[in-house]
Amino acid sequence: MKNKAVLCCLGLALLPWSLNAKQHVMPPSPRPDPRYKADILVIVAHPDDETEVTGYLARAIYDEHKRVAVLYGTCGGAGGNSVSYEQARALCAERKIEARRAMASLGVMNVWFLGGLDTPTQNVLVSLEHWNHGALLERAIRLVRLTRPEVIMTWLPDYVDGENHGDHQASAVIATEAFDMAGDPTVFPEQVAAPRNYQRIGNMTEGLEPWQPEKLYYFTNAVHAGFEAGQGPVYSTTEVSPSQHIPYYEMAARSASYHLTQLPTGPEGREATYRAALDYFKRPVKLILAKSLVPASRTGDVFEGVVPGPIPFHPVAGYRARPHVGLSMELGGPWGFYQRFWRAHDLERIARLVPPEAGVGPGRTLSLPLILRNDTSSPARITLKAILPSGWTVSSGEGIYPVSAHRSYPTRLVFVAPSGKRPTWQALRIHAEAAGQPVGSIAFRVSNVPSGP
Ligand SMILES: [Zn+2]
Repeated sequence: MKNKAVLCCLGLALLPWSLNAKQHVMPPSPRPDPRYKADILVIVAHPDDETEVTGYLARAIYDEHKRVAVLYGTCGGAGGNSVSYEQARALCAERKIEARRAMASLGVMNVWFLGGLDTPTQNVLVSLEHWNHGALLERAIRLVRLTRPEVIMTWLPDYVDGENHGDHQASAVIATEAFDMAGDPTVFPEQVAAPRNYQRIGNMTEGLEPWQPEKLYYFTNAVHAGFEAGQGPVYSTTEVSPSQHIPYYEMAARSASYHLTQLPTGPEGREATYRAALDYFKRPVKLILAKSLVPASRTGDVFEGVVPGPIPFHPVAGYRARPHVGLSMELGGPWGFYQRFWRAHDLERIARLVPPEAGVGPGRTLSLPLILRNDTSSPARITLKAILPSGWTVSSGEGIYPVSAHRSYPTRLVFVAPSGKRPTWQALRIHAEAAGQPVGSIAFRVSNVPSGP
């Protein structure tokens, strides 16, 4: 009772202060800078990659009043130069300007380069290594949080015949990761920590806010396309823009004509490049809906179901190990990575789009990574053998592999394609056995078109 009396008296003593004190009204908190808000964020690897979707972007920008921003993983410094001698970092400097002018021609001024090293490879893991994956992901997430897009568009993260540029796939991997991580405040928390005093110097945290995009779209330039049918919306580029009174393909070709160093008509100037590009851009823009966090149909418009403003963070399943038992064989390299990547990012539908495949030109080789696993408590000897169509050979990799208990053995089979004509698609089959018992079998299809680059 004594304590209660003391508290009661203290309360009475404080009451006049709380009633009479003059409250200082704080200034309003500034909102995120609206100049950088985007409705669509395009994340690609090189200057000119965006031309895959500019036929759609022209529609979105001019007739749907959408704001677009673009991130390039690299500046494209490893390419050849069709205009002059400049190469490497000098070419990089030129291509940054070409990309900015190309996008400015569509009214897009917010263009960033993430600083990856242009890497001519067909292996996404090699590109991610050369790009410094973690550093670029951190930059990409910063720019998702700065631009706050409802929609992200990027390349298809898959090893698809004709769409094997490792950099394209690396930009898709980073875009997918950024889509799934930018809304998580524990990911790069320094980006979303409030500055101590934003109007003064020395603020070393960034003051951004977590951001969860709503829809993720992929696009592809696969040689043997068709698998994307029914997977997303298709946009005609031959329709005339109601506001600009020209077809969308003309705007796309005009934008592409700024990439002079990349085009064979570059030395002839931009007008010749524009005219040469017109036909190419008459093809429709086909998108693949990778995921939508708002109710929307797969083939509906890009902005179907999109709600303005922030939506809650949507955590993905993340990686979950699948138990291995006994002896087994699986594809390694990009193919093995993607099987885990798709599951971890709730993209199981993408896993079903295309079976494991590659394009191998006449006389060219295919180096196929494999993982032999021994999840028993005894050492094992696993025999690898390929069953090949006529004319194909194996230059290395067939043989008997000693695999220790509870260990795996990474290897690769190197196939050599026949030099003559052959069917469009053929199947390479790999069999593994141990002590006369089958361990596993993998069917891998190859087309007769060389994969680039
Ligand atoms: Zn490219």
